[in-house]
Amino acid sequence: MSQTLITFAVTLLLIILAVVPYFRHLRKKEEKARKKFQELKISGLDEAATVHPHIDVTNCIGCGGCVKACPEGDVLAIIEGKATLIHGAKCVGHGLCAEACPVGAIELLMARPGRSADLPALDQNYQTNVEGVFIVGELGGIGLIKNAVAQGKTAVEYIKTKPRNGAADFDMAIVGAGPAGLAAGLTAKANGMRYVILEQSDIGGSILHYPRAKVVMTSPVELPIWGKLKLTDVKKEALLDVWQKIIAKAGLDIRTNEKVLEVRRADEYFEVTTASTRLTATYVVLALGRRGTPRKLGVPGEELSKVMYRLIDTSTYRDSNILIVGGGDSAVEAAAGLALQKNNTITLSYRREAFTGIKERNLQHIRGLIAKKKVRAVFNSEVTEITDKTAVLQSPQGRLEIPNDFVFIFAGGELPFELLKKIGVGTRMQELDEPAVRAAS
Ligand SMILES: Cc1cc2nc3c(=O)[nH]c(=O)nc-3n(C[C@H](O)[C@H](O)[C@H](O)COP(=O)(O)OP(=O)(O)OC[C@H]3O[C@@H](n4cnc5c(N)ncnc54)[C@H](O)[C@@H]3O)c2cc1C
Repeated sequence: MSQTLITFAVTLLLIILAVVPYFRHLRKKEEKARKKFQELKISGLDEAATVHPHIDVTNCIGCGGCVKACPEGDVLAIIEGKATLIHGAKCVGHGLCAEACPVGAIELLMARPGRSADLPALDQNYQTNVEGVFIVGELGGIGLIKNAVAQGKTAVEYIKTKPRNGAADFDMAIVGAGPAGLAAGLTAKANGMRYVILEQSDIGGSILHYPRAKVVMTSPVELPIWGKLKLTDVKKEALLDVWQKIIAKAGLDIRTNEKVLEVRRADEYFEVTTASTRLTATYVVLALGRRGTPRKLGVPGEELSKVMYRLIDTSTYRDSNILIVGGGDSAVEAAAGLALQKNNTITLSYRREAFTGIKERNLQHIRGLIAKKKVRAVFNSEVTEITDKTAVLQSPQGRLEIPNDFVFIFAGGELPFELLKKIGVGTRMQELDEPAVRAAS
């Protein structure tokens, strides 16, 4: 009897020794996630801008499979035993979380809970309600490089089967040189079609704006002229290098710094107007992405890679001198989020004399940070130059040249939907309860 009791007690002790550290570890992990969630809320990065997982908490069993499956790292976490979207801004729509969930509690949605997303209405060839105008890539609602490439190819393969007007300058004008526009251009070139790619800034699309050295997860894609592009776990810089090689090999006609301002039907073709030219094309393929056109300052040095118009992850910026330009909610949230990171020196330059029209919560927060000298606000100031190591402000105190590693500009901008509206492209609303927008596997 006593032998049995001893065996029982030893077994129980062993179980306790194994289980207690495990639960302690889980608790610590959850505490860390909760802290991070609070920080991300301060910088507004908890909210997804586009596609993101929506978790049905009544079904979620808190197994953490989704958290482990996410290649972006910290988009999801387990809090109070349930999967929680803590870093929505970082989600790019891989969809692996939904695949990993053993109880089907995750679907990918475009809209934030309680809101609806405006998506262009497209047919199976990605043609809009405006006959001859196509939308490919992320603008259509689904993210990821592989989907953008597939859609760019499909649309042009379809255009190939349609009549073309010899009187037009081009068979098609492709707008945007991200993955979707480049794939469309390669398909047109491979099929001997007359095309031009018009890009408002530089080649690469969203990839250009990934954080430095970001690891890109891309399933292999088949590109016309180039062949198989096998890229998994590749750094952003390497991916951009490969794109340049592909463009050089194919000899693609890409005109950079040509923002398309207007697309208008004229007789049997479209007139496409940019800031510097007007051309005609039988078809128009819009591969604009969803980032929009951030308003630029137009100052020397703005083209440096340390200058950004969107903040995705505050934790990548530490031990740095950071300049935030702007005084709206995005600027204030970015300043607050970055001020929380270790050893950052934050300067906020705003051209007005005070913050106006921002959320009360943000106003209180930024005032507190300024009072504690965690953020230095320079009102009535304008950036006049950005150099490798400094940023120059014109302020009431005169010319200020401050040490600088990164600049975030939040000066407003224009969403791609404004151009769609002008063209007359119809949309459909995606409501929260609509079937999930799923990334193609
Ligand atoms: C931080 C981050 C990380 C990501 N990581 C991954 C990843 O690991 N794997 C993955 O598969 N996907 C990832 N994605 C998503 C992926 O980058 C996008 O889904 C993809 O780039 C969409 O391609 P696109 O060609 O549709 O649009 P974009 O790449 O956004 O390109 C659109 C282009 O159109 C141009 N443009 C817009 N308006 C005009 C105009 N009026 N005139 C002329 N040009 C115009 C823009 O300047 C831009 O160059 C990530 C996205 C982000 C933001």
